[in-house]
Amino acid sequence: MSRLGGAAAELDTDRRPLVLVWEVTQACGLACRHCRADAKPSRHPDELTTEEGKRLLDDAAEFGDGQLVVLSGGDPLARDDLVDLVAYGDDRGLRMTVTPSGTRSLTPDRVSALADAGARRLALSLDGATRETHDRFRGEESFESTVAAARAARDAGIPLQVNTTVCAATVDELPSIRDRVREFGAVLWSVFFLVPVGRGRVLDPIAPERAELVMEWLHEVAAAERFGVKTTEAPFYRRVGLQRDSLGNDGDARAEAGRGTGVSPPVAGSRSSATRERRTPPGSCRGPPATCGSGPWSRYTGTPICSNRCASPTG
Ligand code: SF4
Repeated sequence: MSRLGGAAAELDTDRRPLVLVWEVTQACGLACRHCRADAKPSRHPDELTTEEGKRLLDDAAEFGDGQLVVLSGGDPLARDDLVDLVAYGDDRGLRMTVTPSGTRSLTPDRVSALADAGARRLALSLDGATRETHDRFRGEESFESTVAAARAARDAGIPLQVNTTVCAATVDELPSIRDRVREFGAVLWSVFFLVPVGRGRVLDPIAPERAELVMEWLHEVAAAERFGVKTTEAPFYRRVGLQRDSLGNDGDARAEAGRGTGVSPPVAGSRSSATRERRTPPGSCRGPPATCGSGPWSRYTGTPICSNRCASPTG
């Protein structure tokens, strides 16, 4: 049985999947140099036809009412039957969600049509907080389309999810992207740690020590923001959360928190918890977090970590 919270708590993952992702096409109008899906400009001749796709959705519906289905790609908008597929799945009791690419095809009218067809969520990729950084990462112009689609989703009443890749090229901008996620009124920030497959092999991952700091920061974001935070390819997010919970207890719990994780909890004689919790006044951090010493201290590594309110929060 799943140990997830909320509506997913009743889900028996021995009997049905938490989520079904159907990559409906390999076609995409963008050509991001890191594309995991090796997207191409044209649709592949072996893609499922509309009727084959509907039979696939019939099969998905047999898992039970409310099965979550993600229509991904490539760019699902490259299929002209996308709205039809969403409507069909919705009629069959599936929870249909769509992850379109940030192209000029992603117009407010198409977002609105997906909403009318019953799409339950729109997921957009945002890998930089500005046109310059996002488009540089994508190697394409897609920032404006993405922002317009995020606003269109809000206007159409589709809950929005923002997906962000964490790698050496994006990690410094996570705080600013977090601000965008908040501004869009998104319900979920889905943070993908780099999976070096497909063209994703061209990107550099972040070092494990920095990933640990990012995890702690993401837990702070999750606690502070109205939107949820979800990680992919980062199971240690959960371990960091358990350690954070454990550290609220006594010393035995602290010792237990570090056992077998490779990360030591604070020990007697290390910096006091008061020091660890010391906060940097907003904007006052002037140096690299590893040396400035003015941010709150990591409770697990004993190294400084700037808060999400100072200049360089993710270390
Ligand atoms: S938008 Fe997505 S599917 Fe399209 S090329 Fe970029 S990463 Fe690949």
